[in-house]
Amino acid sequence: MAVKYVFVTGGVVSGLGKGITAASLGRLLKARGYQVTMQKFDPYINIDPGTMNPIQHGEVFVTDDGTETDLDLGHYERFIDESLDKNSNVTTGKVYWSVLQKERHGDFGGGTVQVIPHITNEIKSRFYRAKSQDEEKIAIIEVGGTVGDIESQPFLESIRQFQHDVGHDNAILLHVTLIPYLRASEEMKTKPTQASVKELQGMGIQPDVLVCRSEHPLTDEIKGKIALFCNVPVSHVLQNLDVEYLYEAPLAMEREKLADVVLESLRLENRKPDLSEWTQMVNDLRNPESVVNIAMVGKYTQLHDAYLSVVEALKHGGISCKAKVEITWIDSEELNEKNLDQALHKVDGILVPGGFGNRGTEGMILAAQYARVHKIPYLGICLGMQMAIVEFARHVLGYEDANSIELDPSTKHPVIALMPDQESVEDLGGTLRLGSYPCVLADSSKALELFGKKEIQERHRHRYEVNNAYREEFATKGMTIAGTSPDGHIVEMIEIKDHPFYEGTQGHPEFKSRPNHAHPLFRGFVKAADDYAKLKKSRQAKNQE
Ligand code: GLN
Repeated sequence: MAVKYVFVTGGVVSGLGKGITAASLGRLLKARGYQVTMQKFDPYINIDPGTMNPIQHGEVFVTDDGTETDLDLGHYERFIDESLDKNSNVTTGKVYWSVLQKERHGDFGGGTVQVIPHITNEIKSRFYRAKSQDEEKIAIIEVGGTVGDIESQPFLESIRQFQHDVGHDNAILLHVTLIPYLRASEEMKTKPTQASVKELQGMGIQPDVLVCRSEHPLTDEIKGKIALFCNVPVSHVLQNLDVEYLYEAPLAMEREKLADVVLESLRLENRKPDLSEWTQMVNDLRNPESVVNIAMVGKYTQLHDAYLSVVEALKHGGISCKAKVEITWIDSEELNEKNLDQALHKVDGILVPGGFGNRGTEGMILAAQYARVHKIPYLGICLGMQMAIVEFARHVLGYEDANSIELDPSTKHPVIALMPDQESVEDLGGTLRLGSYPCVLADSSKALELFGKKEIQERHRHRYEVNNAYREEFATKGMTIAGTSPDGHIVEMIEIKDHPFYEGTQGHPEFKSRPNHAHPLFRGFVKAADDYAKLKKSRQAKNQE
């Protein structure tokens, strides 16, 4: 079969969970023994989202090979459990960048460079290609934005051409759309869907499957109407109702026979799916035995998507110990010595996630101190580890002005310093220390206990690192180096021994966590928070006796 393609587009409005639908399909095909890969084509002009404000675009997800990508890639990895790479996220910016470089290089032989064929050829050349002759794979390719947007037109035209090139049986289109419900007339409305399908048809593309988001189940009559007007078999009109938990989406779409109709459209054999592990995971998620309350102390608490993978990884940690994780969002900018206790005394764990720039960092330092002093489980990720180190330097080593030079370039105690290979860097985009790097864990560290192996790999996205000049001093006062780069130069993990759980990591473990395989740090952190919650309860019970 070589490679078969499923393109996923969205109609009517954005925010329909197109990425989740695409990722769910990936899981369902994988459960049938098919090899799956996923890509996202984004119509914006930035080369990648690396330089975008998380408030606008949500989290920047990082792949093993160090590509900064759209957060949907995180959903893909969590659902299909495959490591994606630099080819998995293509933007208009990347497409134009490479076409323009070719133009400057004289590759177009004096021709006029145009959207068709040059841009569309470049887009088509980036659709997943088989790595070897006998590779068999289904590539699910999501196009960002909504059909009808000016920016997405070259992508849709490329899909049309591509279908023509490889044959419709090898490249199908799944359109995710909305069926709004009008409460006043108690009616479901199909017109917006008809209009967006017409728009596709006007571009020469006929959707094969319609996934209809709606608040209410679609009646047979509605399905029939959509099928008739949109020119698809009625069995290819699927409903996609809201699910209580994100990870139920593949199971809900399995009931709708999503994979069956996709395989039928691709002329591939259907197989019995094995969804037992996924179903078990969803059952554990649905039936927690305890509740833990984690404080998330960051500066983007208004937009939870800015920390999407961290939130998901916490859920995974919860699933692994059958605890429901409730998050208390704490804006680190608002945190001060007066309200600190009020804000944190009830929580069972404190997490300070990654970030850039000064805003809110003093609040993060206070939170790290509170966790250390009150022996509340703490997980510091990247900036969260750096702030734990600054806190320790200020309050245990007594260096009152200790800081990261990112935040205070004139500090006398730069405990977090610029990485030497970052010194000459001027461009902002794509220049951080990015992607997967090895880390060797220290003997008798908690980290080693959690991971169960000496050498691990974590994904990175940072410019600063622990200043090695202070290592000895930290260690003698109780903050130990739990992991370093194999050459020993870069501090990758720290921990406090005399504490139930106080871990800091320079990497981003959240990117590698999976719902059915929680990352060891998240598993350990949520378990420690759960134990702490139980300890608090039993203490309270004793006090009442
Ligand atoms: N701003 C810090 C650095 O560049 C931390 C980065 C992060 O948390 N991802 O090192």
